[in-house]
Amino acid sequence: MSDCIFCKIIAGEIPSTKVYEDDKLLAFRDINPQAPVHILIIPKTHYDSVNALDEKSAPIVADIMLLAAKLAKENGLDSGYRIITNIGDDGGQTVKHLHFHLLGGVKLSEKMA
Ligand code: 5GP
Ligand code: ZN
Repeated sequence: MSDCIFCKIIAGEIPSTKVYEDDKLLAFRDINPQAPVHILIIPKTHYDSVNALDEKSAPIVADIMLLAAKLAKENGLDSGYRIITNIGDDGGQTVKHLHFHLLGGVKLSEKMA
């Protein structure tokens, strides 16, 4: 997707603070952190959101969950953290490339919406 910010980050056309990379996934620090630790985890393949996944592609979400737990541990989030994915305009999704927020380092709000 040539006009997608996160595809540009994957391609190295936009700089980012990377915390993990392999052939399928990239994790980098959010430019506007909402918590002391705020990492975005994205698949290198472009999917607009969870809505674009199918049975073949959905296992990438399991890979992302395992990476989130690993990064949480590496970042000292032993007392807990939150994983969020926003979908569509009402879900607050501003970047239309599937991504999961890993948030922690503070007692997070109990409000969900
Ligand atoms: P959304 O609102 O779509 O769930 O989350 C998009 C996130 O991407 C936001 O938290 C926003 O701060 C972050 N973001 C947007 N553009 C950039 C960028 O160019 N670099 C980084 N590191 N984060 C970005
Ligand atoms: Zn993309």
